[in-house]
Amino acid sequence: MSDLETNRCRICGGTECGVLMDFGPRPITKRLLPTPDASGEFTHHIKLDICHTCGFVQILDTVPERELYSEYALQSTWKPQPHFLDEIAKLKEFAALAPADFIMEIGCNDGSALLSLREQGMVKVLGVEPSSDVAAIAKSRGFDVINDFFNTERAEAVVSGHGLCDLLICRQVLEHVAYLDDFMLAIRAVLKEGGHLMLEVPDFNVPLQYGDVSAIWEEHVNYFTEESLRFLLLKHGFTPVHTCRYDFSGGALTIIARKGYRPTTPPTPPREFASNTMFAQRAAQSAAVVAAFLQQQGYSPREVAIYGAGNRAVILLNRFLGDLVGLVVDDQPEKQGRFLPQSGKRVHPSDSLVKSGIKVCLLAVNAENEEAVIRRNKTFLDQGGSFFSVLSPSRYLIR
Ligand SMILES: [Zn+2]
Repeated sequence: MSDLETNRCRICGGTECGVLMDFGPRPITKRLLPTPDASGEFTHHIKLDICHTCGFVQILDTVPERELYSEYALQSTWKPQPHFLDEIAKLKEFAALAPADFIMEIGCNDGSALLSLREQGMVKVLGVEPSSDVAAIAKSRGFDVINDFFNTERAEAVVSGHGLCDLLICRQVLEHVAYLDDFMLAIRAVLKEGGHLMLEVPDFNVPLQYGDVSAIWEEHVNYFTEESLRFLLLKHGFTPVHTCRYDFSGGALTIIARKGYRPTTPPTPPREFASNTMFAQRAAQSAAVVAAFLQQQGYSPREVAIYGAGNRAVILLNRFLGDLVGLVVDDQPEKQGRFLPQSGKRVHPSDSLVKSGIKVCLLAVNAENEEAVIRRNKTFLDQGGSFFSVLSPSRYLIR
């Protein structure tokens, strides 16, 4: 039975979940189209739910996996993640990571993190990755990769083929997982007693603070705070030993934890309903702030552009920015000439900012990439154009 049928919270098991925000029928955000006509495209009614017991924010009625992950081949390459080197340093410090350790990475993608580990002297590594195209890239880099989803059924085969690992790394994966308890049991099953687990997830506290609705993406079915992630770990017998945060992709939260015994009675769930429920109000406020800013400056939509055709930009355009923005630009060649789902806007190269007489360009790229975009568009700035950001966190954010 699915979470939706039982209305059961994935974290605490409470059955009193309610709708926090209703997004209506939404297309698959990352599926850019060859024509502006989106009729006949798949849509799914997206509702953001909240647990009245612990306050965990989640999407219970999830988009079928075959719709979400069948076209991963169209995705561009994995983003650079310089903060992983700091995570390795933290693993050496808090998890006694040593060169002889056997490390498993769930969701290894194209093997970038495994490569960093190898460069740091950790050579006994194994990746698990469900998407065959990126798994093939990891394999071509000389890594042993199991091309499959990870669950308790799979864990048994992994252990019989490779043995138990000393460290399990799982980065930017848990937020996609609808079967959280089974996933955590599978992690326990492949990890030695006393071994360590490092989880990295998007930090919901960042969009919560800014009311940034671009974080609500149909691929992310779980919205973790430090409290809810710690609770999940404790519930499954992991003791958190270190927590850190990074300015990566809208804010990342990392916890390193040690495997111990599973408690017979679960720990007390977080009490985040009051704080997390604020998200809906803040999202409405931040949308109103952007609209008011553009109106006060006297910009008409044909003078306003958005830079970025990634999932966060598409979500904002479909939620409230569509009528305020006349031009969409992005410098990834594979996106140019294609049309954004629902808004039907065509993606242009960024030299269109100058050609089209744009006065203000709204940045919809992660903070770590903003300066590079601004540098590349110096001509636009020289001719009087200006940049502001619509994604949190950012020093250029319209507030
Ligand atoms: Zn709950």
